[in-house]
Amino acid sequence: MTPLLERYRDVLPLSASTPIVTLGEGSTPLIRAERLSAKLGVDLWLKWEGANPTGSFKDRGMAVAVSKALEDGARGVVCASTGNTAASAAAYAARAGLDAVIVHATGAVALGKLGQVRAVGARLMEVDGTFEDAFAASLELAEQEGYTVVNSTNPHRLEGQKTAAFEIVEELGGPPDVLVLPYGGGGNTTAYARGFDEAGGGLPRIVPVEAKQRGDTVASAIRIREPVHRATVEDAVARSGGRVVPVGEDELADAWRTLAHEEGVFCEPASAAGLAGLAHGVAGLGERVVCVVTGHGLKDPAAVELLGT
Ligand SMILES: *Cc1c(COP(=O)(O)O)cnc(C)c1O
Repeated sequence: MTPLLERYRDVLPLSASTPIVTLGEGSTPLIRAERLSAKLGVDLWLKWEGANPTGSFKDRGMAVAVSKALEDGARGVVCASTGNTAASAAAYAARAGLDAVIVHATGAVALGKLGQVRAVGARLMEVDGTFEDAFAASLELAEQEGYTVVNSTNPHRLEGQKTAAFEIVEELGGPPDVLVLPYGGGGNTTAYARGFDEAGGGLPRIVPVEAKQRGDTVASAIRIREPVHRATVEDAVARSGGRVVPVGEDELADAWRTLAHEEGVFCEPASAAGLAGLAHGVAGLGERVVCVVTGHGLKDPAAVELLGT
């Protein structure tokens, strides 16, 4: 299969001399959810981003960010992470032959993701505090060491992530009526809006779904108190006629179980947020909905015990 960065080269910030660092990201399945469609009265499709090389959509952006870091002569990459950015940065840095430093808040990262980071030889730095504290520490380290920051504030990340919208438009022959997806920092929502804008068929109603308990939700991948991309998320939501939906912990757990039981899709808890949001009347009867399922269930095996089966 053509690598993602080759397939969308024209619309990505790549030049003829950019070394392409790839692990086969993107081109993920868009799965028709037959049973849930019938149950909810909508035409529901699951964009299964757990099928990416390190198990989350972060790989789309990381392939571009690390390729650019390599082109720019960086010595290494650094990021603060709730886990998946870390797993992805570590893997792509190893692939590129660059150092990787991962800064994380103590106890805030799921077990599978720490294993992914360690396995490929990245350096872990623990900060006693929140995600925001870890992010501040990673900016400081980048300055000291001459490393590239590969958090979603790195513009190349969002450029890579927007390719998921292109894939959806190509596969469905146009944008869906509604897009539901988890809302942590809001980078992915921003990237989808940009992708649909550039694809030219108009925006679906964009519905980012956040945890009511942002700071201490069970869904560790969206455990972010202050979304760094809030302004662009709100703009995309307003322009598209969508809305931000906050959901409770029980709703997240229910949606997570439902995806697994009804469709056989085992995702991590945060990835079920989109489905949890659908229960809030954001789609009309028969409308076409794409639900972005952002990361694989194997990343957070403890969730199976915690949320029950
Ligand atoms: C990063 C991540 C999110 C949140 O995406 P944002 O861009 O921060 O809004 C949701 N789910 C998973 C699995 C993630 O890794």
